[in-house]
This record gives sequence, structure tokens and C-alpha cells, in this order.
Amino acid sequence: MSPRAWGSFRLRLTLGAGGLALCTLLGVGLYAARLATQERQNFVGLQLLGAARSAAIGLATRLQEREREVEILSRVPSLAESPLDSERVARSLALRKETNTEYAWMGVASLDGRVVNATGGLLVGADVRTRPWFAAGLKGSYTGDVHQAALLATLLEPRPGGEPLRFIDLAAPVIGPAGQVRGVLAAHVHWDWIANAVRKAVREDPRATDTEVIILGRDGTVLYPLRAPGTRLPQALGRERFGMQEEPGGASYLVARASVPVTQHSDLGWSVVLRQPSAAATAPVAQLRDRLFAIGLATSLLVAALAYVLAARVSRPLERLVTAVMSVREGRGGQANFPRDGGSPELSALSDAVREMTETLLDREARLAQANAHLEQTVAERTCQLSQANEELARLAAQDALTGLANRRAFEQRAAEEEARCRRSGTGFGLLLLDIDHFKDVNDRFGHATGDQVLQQIARLLESATRETDLVARLGGEEFAVLLPELGESADTLRVAEKIRQAIQAAHFGPVGEVTVSVGCAKGDGNDTPVQLALRRADEALYKAKQAGRNRCVAADDLTAA
Ligand code: GH3
Ligand code: MG
Ligand code: MG
Repeated sequence: MSPRAWGSFRLRLTLGAGGLALCTLLGVGLYAARLATQERQNFVGLQLLGAARSAAIGLATRLQEREREVEILSRVPSLAESPLDSERVARSLALRKETNTEYAWMGVASLDGRVVNATGGLLVGADVRTRPWFAAGLKGSYTGDVHQAALLATLLEPRPGGEPLRFIDLAAPVIGPAGQVRGVLAAHVHWDWIANAVRKAVREDPRATDTEVIILGRDGTVLYPLRAPGTRLPQALGRERFGMQEEPGGASYLVARASVPVTQHSDLGWSVVLRQPSAAATAPVAQLRDRLFAIGLATSLLVAALAYVLAARVSRPLERLVTAVMSVREGRGGQANFPRDGGSPELSALSDAVREMTETLLDREARLAQANAHLEQTVAERTCQLSQANEELARLAAQDALTGLANRRAFEQRAAEEEARCRRSGTGFGLLLLDIDHFKDVNDRFGHATGDQVLQQIARLLESATRETDLVARLGGEEFAVLLPELGESADTLRVAEKIRQAIQAAHFGPVGEVTVSVGCAKGDGNDTPVQLALRRADEALYKAKQAGRNRCVAADDLTAA
């Protein structure tokens, strides 16, 4: 695509409208998705918190039931009245343990801290004075925190899954008929029974599907699921709250934490924590966002396509108009095709206006070209006439009007050229000055007109007696000059002068009859004797000829007299 096409109105409008629609829809979509994400997190967080609370309450309830059970058992007649190591007591314990599988062990310790009866006969005879449950159990009902099995670890079957045995100890004093304490009834409850109960409660809670269950101890360490001792959650989360937490690996969770309520005999400080990967929690929002993006993209493409169609409607007549104007610019105005239908009233009006303007301009241009051609012809004619007139003028300026010979000005110009030529070539020229003898008398006797005719006839005689290259001029009145180029030799100059003089003398001048002339001859060159000096000498020679009686040729001093 050419740069011009990239910058075209059509493409710009298409990209602009499409881009604007895309930006707007993306912006709105992102904002909506953000709001929806927050709302969804709040919603799921509250649901998780509700489920955690339910699970925590369920856990406390179950614990309390076990406490009550141990308390009641400690008061049944078989324990209250029978010897603590009797078979009767053993049966009561065994019956209870078989009914409730959550019990790992049940036993009775005598006041001196020895186990005297127990389920399966385990630990009978063992010294339990240092165990917390014994000391507490002598005083009243007791519930202890979860701990790993010590004495029973090797005596009991391992738990399914190979988890280490962990117990919660419950104890209650065995009271005799007289109200005296006879011993301590103790029960070890499997920890995984409690944990499974919580897990089951959460799993059955529709508010907490796909949720991980964690039980925290009072100090925040993870009690369930089994982790390395002392493991904690990444960030402390306040009780009875929910929020976002990030694992060190980068996994993000929506977490809710609820405290396990205090039971009648215990305040273990446990919390039930439920957590869901935030991606799972906000999955519906992500779906919504993706759909919004897809709709935004499709809408933008649609807007861009509409903009393209619209722009094409506007720009096509414009492009045709531009093409037509370009044709006019390139001198093909006749072929210009202006669009009749501009797509809109404004464009139609513009097209009409440009077409009319072009027609007017073309018409003017044609008329101007015609006028120009006419003017050029006129100018050519005038120039020709002018140059003819100039030539005529130049000719007249150089010509004597009466005789048609060169005048004084032409003579001087030609003489100067000859002088320069002689200076270059080192040759010389001859110069004759002629004056008609007693011409005044001619005028006086025959009239001025006859005098003129004599002047004209002498002019013709001078021309015929000289060469083509010689210059004959009338210097004024009845005085003539002849320039003889390349004729520097005295003899030649005098010979020409004499030839002229004789020709004039021999000629017949109508009523006047004979006319004679006196001639002064001189020679010149480009150096020692320039034209002016030669003229002066010829004039002196002419004067001498007149003095000597006229009708003769006299050479200047440097020439030999004829
Ligand atoms: P000289 O022999 O001493 O030259 O005598 P001249 O009479 O020729 O000399 P001058 O200078 O006294 O007379 C010249 C005369 O030439 C005077 C004038 O009337 C006449 N002349 C000068 N120009 C023209 C002209 O154009 N036409 C006619 N018809 N006569 C002219
Ligand atoms: Mg004269
Ligand atoms: Mg004269």
C-alpha cells in the first residue's frame, strides 16, 4: 500500500473509528471486569467465611460431644463403684471404644498415677503422673491440644495413609459414691477423626466447593493438613476475616478464617481456614471478561467496517474529483470527468463549482492562447517592419540624399575601419579629395536644379571609375572623397585620381557642357599617417591644385605631383 493510501481519508477514518471503539470498549470492559472481580472476591470470600464458620462450629460441637461423653463415662456406676482394675470397668471402656471409632485408646489411672485399666490392656501399669491429662484430670474435665503419640506410637495400628498418630487427650476425674476422686478416666481421640470431620463438613457445604481446608493452632502453625512442624500460612490473616493471600511461589488465594468456638472444657484457639485459588474464585468473571473482549473486538471491527463504508461514500467522489482536477493540471482538461453525484449535497456542489471554474479557466486559457498567437504574429510582423525600417534608417543615415553616395559620417566610419585594418596588416590606403571647379557659376548660370544634376552625374562617374571595394563619398557641397583601400602606392593613387579627373572632363553635363574637378591626393596607413592626417594633407594638396589653376591632380608632399 502506498504512503498516500495509508494517509487516505478512508483508511484514517476506518482506523480512527475502529481504534476509538476498541479503546472505549476495552476500557469499559476492563473497568467492568475489575469491578466484577472485586465483587466476586467479596461474594466468594463471604461464602468461604460462612463455610469456615460452619466447619469451626461443627468441630467445636463434636469436641464438646466427646468431652461430654468422657465426663458421663467417668460417672457411670461401673466406674464409680467397681474397682478401677475390674473386668467390669474394662468392659465399659471397651464398649465405648468400639462404639466410637474416633477413640484410639481409653484407660483409667489410679490416684498414684498408674494405668490400672485400658482398652486392649495397652499401657496398663504405665506411669502417667507426668502426663498433663493426669494432673488436670484429677481436678476436673480436661481437653488437651493435639500432640503426637508417645507411649502408644508403637502399640497401636498405624493410621491409613501412614500418617503419624496424633491425639487429643480428654480426661475426667472418676468420682466415687461418696464424692471422692478415685482416679482419672482418659481418652485419646484420633486427630484425623477431627480433621476428617471438618473436611467432610466443608466438602458437603455447597458454598465451599473446590476449597482447601486448613486447621491452624493457636500460634498460627498449620495443624492440618500435615506439614513440617511449625509451618505457617504466608501472611497472618485476622480471625473472622477473608482476603487475598499469596504463596511465596506466586500462587494467589482467596482465604477465609474462622475461630473454633470455646467448648465447655477447652479453649484450644484453633482456626479453620478455607482457601481457594483466586483464579478459581474469579473464573466466572474471567469468562465474562473474555466474552466482553470478544464482543468489544467484534463491535470494533463492525464499527471499522461501517466507518470504511461511510468514508468510501464520501471519499470516492472526492477521489474522482481529485483525478479530474489532476487531469486539468496536466493539461488534459478536455478529458476531465467531474463526478455528477457527489454522494452528499455539499460534495455535489463542490464538484459542480470546480467543474464550472475549470470550464471558465479553460475557456479563458484558450482565448488567451489565441490572443497570444495573434500577438506573437503581430510582434513578428512589427519586428520585421522595424528591422527593415532600421536598416533603411541606417542606410539613409549613411547615405547622401542627393547622390546616393556615402555621406561624411559613413565615410569617417569606413575610414576608421580601414585605418584599423591597415594597422593590423601594415599596408596603406589612398585618399582623394575632389572639388568641382567654379561650381558656383554653374548654379548661377543654370540654376540650382541643374547644379544638383551635375552633382548626381559626377557621383555616377566616380562610382564607375572606381573599384567595388573603393569608397566614394560626398563630404558636403560639391566636395567628394574617394578612399582607396590597399592602395598605398603613390603612383597608383595618382593614377586613379587622374583617371577620374579625365573621365569627368570627358563627360558631357547637359546644358552645362564640360565640368572639371580638382583633386588632392594623399596616402595614409594605420600608424604614422592616420585618416585625419591624410585628409588634411589631401585637402592641402587640393588647395594647391586649385591654386595651380584647377582641373588637375596634386599629390601631397609625400606623393609625387602628377
Ligand atoms: P572653386 O573653383 O574655387 O571651387 O569655385 P567654386 O565656385 O566652385 O567654389 P565656391 O565655394 O565659391 O562655391 C561652391 C558653390 O557650390 C556654392 C554653392 O552654391 C554650390 N553648392 C553647394 N552645395 C550645393 C548643392 O547641393 N547643390 C547645388 N546646386 N549647388 C551647391
Ligand atoms: Mg568647394
Ligand atoms: Mg568648387
